[in-house]
Amino acid sequence: MLEIKNLHATVDGAEILKGIDLTINAGEVHAIMGPNGSGKSTLSYLLSGREGYEMTEGSVLFKGKELLELEPEERAGEGLFLAFQYPVEIPGVPNTTFLKEAVNAVRKYRGESELDAMEFVKQLRAKTKELGVNPDFLKRAVNAGFSGGEKKRNEMLQMAMLEPSLCLLDETDSGLDIDALKAVAEGVNAMRGPERAMLVITHYQRLLTYIVPDKVHVLSKGRIVRSGGPELAQELEEKGYTESVEAA
Ligand code: ADP
Ligand code: MG
Ligand code: MG
Repeated sequence: MLEIKNLHATVDGAEILKGIDLTINAGEVHAIMGPNGSGKSTLSYLLSGREGYEMTEGSVLFKGKELLELEPEERAGEGLFLAFQYPVEIPGVPNTTFLKEAVNAVRKYRGESELDAMEFVKQLRAKTKELGVNPDFLKRAVNAGFSGGEKKRNEMLQMAMLEPSLCLLDETDSGLDIDALKAVAEGVNAMRGPERAMLVITHYQRLLTYIVPDKVHVLSKGRIVRSGGPELAQELEEKGYTESVEAA
């Protein structure tokens, strides 16, 4: 699903990522953790196509295609979903309208017909219930006045409606309360499946007690210095990054 090979990348000309190798197969949930300044955000911004972030060596293949050469709508169409730390507010656009347009844009890219209005509502209701989203939020403008936890739940609803094959979640740094963490974890867990891969980039060990990943990688100074199973997240929690990285 995702194959990162010898990835080197610069931010405004400074090399931050120094040779990352990472393969994620369908059905797997991987977590990338690491101390502040290790390059977690750089990786997620690079994969999301943010300006100023440049791959200087290596490759990032998503379903065999060079991800960084795809336009944003092509990435979504191919089944990539990007979740960010701060979901945007879109004043004046009802949530339902936004979701319907996003779903139909992806369907159009795939050569599928627009989702019938009844079918869309049916799916939306089911997923709203499954993810614990307050149905009242569907009528409100996207994220307008939502709390942190509500925004995250809404983002997980977007993710569920789009049925992506690769979900990239960046939950780095501060600002997520326990509600928001749980919303993310429930969303991710509800969407785990044999056809789908997920990459969760996080500063929080705590998130990984709710989302038990298949593999955990530790990023340090732009390189993956350790990889292991879910027990590695536990070790990091107990020993901290310094000792765990030195043990590598
Ligand atoms: P993390 O998300 O793991 O905390 P970041 O990806 O934000 O780490 O940062 C990795 C490194 O890149 C840090 O040393 C940071 O100072 C550096 N960095 C971030 N942005 C820039 C920039 N615009 N120019 C130069 N260095 C940067
Ligand atoms: Mg940071
Ligand atoms: Mg960061």
